[in-house]
Amino acid sequence: MRVLGIETSCDETGVALYDSERGLLADALYSQVAMHAEYGGVVPELASRDHVRKLVPLIREVLAKANLTSKDVDGIAYTEGPGLIGALLVGASVARSLAFAWNVPAVGVHHMEGHLLAPMLADDKPDYPYVALLVSGGHTQLFDVQGLGQYQLLGESLDDAAGEAFDKTAKLMGLGYPGGAVLAKKAEAGRAGVYTFPRPMIDRPNCDFSFSGLKTAALLAWQDSDRSEQAIADIAHAFQLAVVETLVKKCQRALKQTGRKRLVIAGGVSANLELRTQLDIMLKKRSGKAYFPPLKYCTDNGAMIAYAGCQRLLRGEQMDLGISARARWPMVELQ
Ligand code: ATP
Ligand code: MG
Ligand code: FE
Repeated sequence: MRVLGIETSCDETGVALYDSERGLLADALYSQVAMHAEYGGVVPELASRDHVRKLVPLIREVLAKANLTSKDVDGIAYTEGPGLIGALLVGASVARSLAFAWNVPAVGVHHMEGHLLAPMLADDKPDYPYVALLVSGGHTQLFDVQGLGQYQLLGESLDDAAGEAFDKTAKLMGLGYPGGAVLAKKAEAGRAGVYTFPRPMIDRPNCDFSFSGLKTAALLAWQDSDRSEQAIADIAHAFQLAVVETLVKKCQRALKQTGRKRLVIAGGVSANLELRTQLDIMLKKRSGKAYFPPLKYCTDNGAMIAYAGCQRLLRGEQMDLGISARARWPMVELQ
């Protein structure tokens, strides 16, 4: 089955074609980051308008790259939520209309289920069951995953998401928006031990997180510093270490609690190399294994939506002719 996937939940227009037999055939991504950077964050109305402009050309591009036409598409998957409602509606309307015109089924995909399944696009794919850490711009959650649609929430962030904390800390040091990846890069030149930031809730016997205090600690350190390149690097280093140690510790707890041997990490922050290294080390010590998405498919993309939609279409799921988009949608509601 060949599935066209469409992602428009936030500020990336992503399109991909996934084949259940042959894997990913083609994909294309347009990021609106430069447009929103000027405002220091995503402007919802601008995001929707840009998806309108970019979506159809990207669909054409993906079909051309795969050397296929609309007749070769067996189903269409789109991000139904959660996300910005206007942005979601663009993807939903285009997907539903094309599916109607091409006479193929359409299915709405949960954006975080898309992230969760992105490691299935890697060569080394996890088997069920596993513990999943979803770390992105809007979410920090731990799930026990027993199969497609079987997600039990073990814990989550009570305030900022890890990616959000990265972005806010980057922004206060003038590293632009979204600066998570830039901050991680700066951390490489940081000296260990110059700063030590708190690890909130690390000793609590649960799988919840809190990251908002960390950004305040970083702000105070920044204000007290000489604001040099070295200060940026040292603060970035201490900040990243605090986030990574907290995430690793809570993953360890989730693995212990569930008895699982496999850990899947997905979402934008799963691109962080320090996080990957530390999780690999922790899993090796437990005789388990950590699984990650290919670097390219950690942040928002169409491939993960095409893959997740394909799994759901193969199960016989499809939507009626209505257009459905949901700004809020807890993943535990999935089946
Ligand atoms: P959500 O998926 O929760 O709706 P989102 O789609 O905005 O949110 P993603 O696209 O999954 O989030 O991830 C973007 C986030 O990942 C940003 O906060 C970004 O700073 C962060 N990020 C990307 N690369 C890195 C990195 N190397 N280190 C740390 N953070 C990173
Ligand atoms: Mg984005
Ligand atoms: Fe995302």
